[in-house]
Amino acid sequence: MQALTNRAKPVDRSPLTFLEKMYVPAIAKGMGITFKHIFKRKATVSFPEQRRQFSPVFRGLHVLNRDEEGRERCTACGLCAVACPAEAITMEAAERKPGEEHLYREEKYAARYEINMLRCIFCGFCEEACPKDAIYMSETFAPSNYQRKGFIYGKPDLLIPDPKQSSK
Ligand code: SF4
Ligand code: SF4
Repeated sequence: MQALTNRAKPVDRSPLTFLEKMYVPAIAKGMGITFKHIFKRKATVSFPEQRRQFSPVFRGLHVLNRDEEGRERCTACGLCAVACPAEAITMEAAERKPGEEHLYREEKYAARYEINMLRCIFCGFCEEACPKDAIYMSETFAPSNYQRKGFIYGKPDLLIPDPKQSSK
């Protein structure tokens, strides 16, 4: 049968020589590779003491933004959820009540906003789709978790702290 590519390599089935049976050349070759790598720059970093420099275009964990007065910017328009190719975002909209103007910037807000981090592919489409500058991707990443439900991030996990509260 003709091979589809020329990458196939025939297996050498000839019996081992005496030297090969002692495995000395193979061990020497392996040690040679080990010593070669000892003097090379390490490919690993000692996390968490040492942190790798992220690329300027790194897209990390999502953050729900507030305006300069500490009000939630998200108006629950759903554009981020529609733009999300992984269908990772769900939300429930609610009407702002009189007296809540200091909490929500628009008349409508997200009473529930969730991102499933197990679905998210960190493409950044939600950030691009948002007309209110309400969601952006930070330079941190979702910490590990033992429970699948621990990767469903709700508003308490995503909302940045109120600047007015944190300055007190
Ligand atoms: S980064 Fe991409 S996959 Fe993740 S929630 Fe946003 S749009 Fe969806
Ligand atoms: S985060 Fe932006 S795009 Fe998504 S629902 Fe809120 S305002 Fe709309």
